[in-house]
Amino acid sequence: GIGSNQAMDEVQPVELIQRAFAALALLSDYPLLVSSLWESTPLDCPPGSPRFINAVAAMRPRQLTPLQLLKSLQQIEADFGRFRGPERNAPRTLDLDILSFGEVLMQDAKLTLPHPRMQERAFVLKPLLEIAPHYSIPGMKCPADALARQIVGQGSLTLINFSKSL
Ligand code: ATP
Ligand code: CA
Ligand code: CA
Repeated sequence: GIGSNQAMDEVQPVELIQRAFAALALLSDYPLLVSSLWESTPLDCPPGSPRFINAVAAMRPRQLTPLQLLKSLQQIEADFGRFRGPERNAPRTLDLDILSFGEVLMQDAKLTLPHPRMQERAFVLKPLLEIAPHYSIPGMKCPADALARQIVGQGSLTLINFSKSL
């Protein structure tokens, strides 16, 4: 699960996410599958936070355990100028979450799988369903498309239409 709502050195979130796709592809044994880019209203964020650009990608990590993958993702975040301050949900240049890793269920101090808040987030489920329409969150009976339909009141979530800007 990929998100950005802050530019890095003038590079805007849409471009940062496309660059993040390229970085993730290097960690994958198989061509990276990527969703569209979506623009979402910030949720539980400090007042005045810019809107987010979100996307989801599917990969087959090269010989990585879940914790090794998390470490690699955090390295990419750092390379993209991610700064972790004390403020929760502060604007960020790049956020890379592991939504699920095969059917792995785990709760470690550093990593919970599947991601414990993904089922309540339209900005995660909508892009995810583009690339995996029949996806179910590991350990959950209800398919992700049904979960997505139940979500209400998360502000706007719009597909970014590239053809308009070409
Ligand atoms: P949220 O997790 O609600 O989306 P966030 O992405 O803003 O919030 P971060 O500050 O990026 O939160 O991450 C806090 C910590 O969450 C990370 O240091 C990491 O160890 C931990 N974490 C636990 N489970 C996961 C997961 N599935 N994917 C990524 N990080 C995770
Ligand atoms: Ca996140
Ligand atoms: Ca994160």
